[in-house]
Amino acid sequence: MTYELIVIGGGPAGYLAAERAGQAGLSTLLIEKRSLGGVCLNEGCIPSKALLYSAKIADNARHGEKYGVEAGEVVLNHPVVIKRKNKVVRNLVAGIKAKMRKNNVTVVEDTAYIAGRNAEGFEVKAGDAVYTGRRLLIASGSVPIMPPLPGVKEGVDTGFVMTNREILDLEEVPNRLVIVGGGVIGLEMASYYHSAGSQVTVIEMLDHIAGPTDSEISQILLKNYEKKGIRFLLSSKVTRLEGNSVVCETNGETLVVEADKVLMSIGRRADTEGLGLDNIGVELDRGRVKVDNKCQTNIPGVYAAGDVNGVSMLAHTAYRESEVAVNNMLGRKDVMRYNAIASVIYTNPEVASVGETEQTAAAKGIEYEVAKLPMMYSGRYMAENEGGDGICKILIEKNQRTLLGVHMIGNYSSEIIYGAALMIEMEMRVDDVKELVFPHPTVSEMIRETIFEF
Ligand SMILES: Cc1cc2nc3c(=O)[nH]c(=O)nc-3n(C[C@H](O)[C@H](O)[C@H](O)COP(=O)(O)OP(=O)(O)OC[C@H]3O[C@@H](n4cnc5c(N)ncnc54)[C@H](O)[C@@H]3O)c2cc1C
Repeated sequence: MTYELIVIGGGPAGYLAAERAGQAGLSTLLIEKRSLGGVCLNEGCIPSKALLYSAKIADNARHGEKYGVEAGEVVLNHPVVIKRKNKVVRNLVAGIKAKMRKNNVTVVEDTAYIAGRNAEGFEVKAGDAVYTGRRLLIASGSVPIMPPLPGVKEGVDTGFVMTNREILDLEEVPNRLVIVGGGVIGLEMASYYHSAGSQVTVIEMLDHIAGPTDSEISQILLKNYEKKGIRFLLSSKVTRLEGNSVVCETNGETLVVEADKVLMSIGRRADTEGLGLDNIGVELDRGRVKVDNKCQTNIPGVYAAGDVNGVSMLAHTAYRESEVAVNNMLGRKDVMRYNAIASVIYTNPEVASVGETEQTAAAKGIEYEVAKLPMMYSGRYMAENEGGDGICKILIEKNQRTLLGVHMIGNYSSEIIYGAALMIEMEMRVDDVKELVFPHPTVSEMIRETIFEF
């Protein structure tokens, strides 16, 4: 059977590409080996947010006295949280299935393998069937990196060591949870399991948490987590797992941290193994599929979107890349821009950033000015965040006075940051932003307050 497009992988990149291609009238086949929705819906973005919302409710109830609310003993019922998370995931996956039907996308649940080419296009095997696609979209996503350290493989076999997949489905809250890696995934899981009652230790190789986040904001975030009772071992390198413990080197000292469960969250890598990309000569760069700004690979007609191209590894990037790829297949001009892609840490407090940080601007030799204000300048923040220490920081280009970056720590920033992304995308100048009217009282007014510091 020949299709105009075969999509490999049914995560955000794959299902949205299939939907858009179907809408445009291309005969489209989507092949998914696990579950439609990919990592994002089944074991990533959505399940983690469902858990974090329960943690937020519990934490607010526990600390309600300062707002005049007394709740007595608050119990976070973990099995109920997981059950609700599963319901949310089920409903969303069903929604995607319905969208595929509505847009005439054929879905095959199997593992895809690119076998080669024929006169009509690219040959893809799934189970016993062989399909031909005039075009291909590789959207096979990413998998967790597991360090080749002594004890890790054995730990995975016994269930002592988990990835994002297992931790989002744990039936019981572990007494002692060690998280290796203080990036976004590690921090979100540390926050939930701390609220659910685990003693959490995060071991991070760098001297700071939250990866590329603005360094001042990452320090405030660390202080907030430590105040709650999450323990951090920074500048610490895990060397092995032994019995029920994690061994690490911290400032020349060997530390042994006891654990009931360990989450490995040191990063993710593009999932290209066993896809058969070499059968059609698709070029890789350190395991990632190499693409241009149209998301096209070195082979005409073969595109790659989402985590598999390794450029940004966020679901919203995957969505946009899939649209860019499909538009180019349809002969519509469209290119990918990465300068205004927001990133968010959905813990309590939330962190949201877009554009250059002081560190990246300095590294690129960009001349910038920076303004920052405490979030307490916002009446809404003040009313809802007793004792909060959030900040809003804006970077502008010194000569053009266009917005370069916006970085916020404080709740609702996840819902505000798209506005800042829009301002950067539209290359708005300080004076343009000053003319905007923000609804009052909202935490978004922090952008207005801070811009008037220039
Ligand atoms: C715990 C966690 C939390 C996250 N939270 C966020 C968040 O809050 N916001 C955010 O933007 N991003 C978040 N991410 C990242 C986000 O999940 C990814 O960026 C996103 O899922 C990438 O989409 P994708 O379509 O490229 O790949 P994926 O979602 O990984 O989907 C790829 C799909 O391809 C399938 N596949 C692979 N090989 C084959 C094959 N040979 N044949 C058939 N099918 C195949 C896989 O089964 C998978 O379903 C999170 C990730 C994790 C792990």
